[in-house]
Amino acid sequence: MPPTDQHSTPPSCQHRPLCPTADGADREAAHIVAAHPEQGWSLLCNGVLAFEDTGEILPNGQVIAPHRRMVGTGAEA
Ligand SMILES: [Zn+2]
Repeated sequence: MPPTDQHSTPPSCQHRPLCPTADGADREAAHIVAAHPEQGWSLLCNGVLAFEDTGEILPNGQVIAPHRRMVGTGAEA
């Protein structure tokens, strides 16, 4: 089913256009609504907890392992 149900839209996101939802591949593109750099994490408006090591915790409790962006060094994990 296409995600047209508004139930999937976090109430905290009031941006237009709406930010990517937590189950989207571009979830990190959502706006940061609460930044805690001293603790190493930020809360995105789609409910995702984004850690500075690129790990994430989704609103449904799913944990996303860190996936550092390649910086052009040719290094691969
Ligand atoms: Zn938003």
